[in-house]
Amino acid sequence: SAPVVTLDGPSGVGKGTTASLLAERLGWHLLDSGALYRVLALASEEADVAVDDEARLEAMAAELDVQFKGREGLQRVILDGRDVSDQIRTEECGGRASRVASLAGARRGLLALQRRFAQAPGLVADGRDMGTTIFPQAPVKIFLTASPAERARRRHKQLKEKGIDANLSELESAIAERDQRDAERNASPLKPADDAVLIDTTEISIGEVFDRVMKLVEE
Ligand code: C5P
Repeated sequence: SAPVVTLDGPSGVGKGTTASLLAERLGWHLLDSGALYRVLALASEEADVAVDDEARLEAMAAELDVQFKGREGLQRVILDGRDVSDQIRTEECGGRASRVASLAGARRGLLALQRRFAQAPGLVADGRDMGTTIFPQAPVKIFLTASPAERARRRHKQLKEKGIDANLSELESAIAERDQRDAERNASPLKPADDAVLIDTTEISIGEVFDRVMKLVEE
């Protein structure tokens, strides 16, 4: 089967950027698994499915008609033929996605869909449990971290670029809170795979992160 590189870690560590640069450089497919949880959150909300209705969320997840279109980095997300890229990026959708993602059923429902992305010539998989659960056989596993303060700073900058002036210390406590929830949830707690390489991105640039990851892939 096709080689897989997994990139896991919490939000704001540079995972998404690193994954798309890597996929582009290698000419491999890219799986943004967070987008799938966001799409499930959106689709279930539109269908009036409660955020804790595990059985229906599992069934919906298994039948999700989602496609990624366009180049890495500029990927558009298509649900039932409709471009939902902007809708799934809101804070609200992210919050609902994180609640949906806490249910084992929802995670089970998305399993097969995620594994279907592992196709020739290879896959770069970006998420939280790519190395532990979805692609445990992947030859290269990377887990990115950064301090909560630095992640809040990056998020702040991102929002500012969108014209939103958020409160830095509020962002920081929201990030710490979500970290705790992700680490404590029973369904797939956020932690590195035993054979993952840890990279702390607090003090290094995206370019540097990319170079380190590329070296690991070439080994
Ligand atoms: O990475 P992103 O913010 O797009 O992910 C949205 C939510 O989906 C996260 O808050 C996380 O809880 C969840 N998620 C997950 N497992 C993944 C990817 C994302 O639980 N592999």
